[in-house]
Amino acid sequence: MQLCNARTRSRDACRRFGNFKNRRCHIYGGKSTGPRTDEGRQRIPKAHFKQGRRSKSYLQQRHDLKTELRSIEADLIKTGLLKKD
Ligand SMILES: [Zn+2]
Repeated sequence: MQLCNARTRSRDACRRFGNFKNRRCHIYGGKSTGPRTDEGRQRIPKAHFKQGRRSKSYLQQRHDLKTELRSIEADLIKTGLLKKD
């Protein structure tokens, strides 16, 4: 394993072991450049999905239910079973 190629803030050479791709250790390596494999790319949305409160399918479902409820309400008002307020 090679040593890290970075300089520290005091201008000395970093003495940690570097990785093979960029010869920088975990301290000086910088940001991740993202997933490389298809499997890794497919894992991203899964990792960001929490409870689905704002997912497309849930919002669409909620929208459909509200539309249905509004039409039912309008029908009830039309037949006189429900009063308009
Ligand atoms: Zn280093």
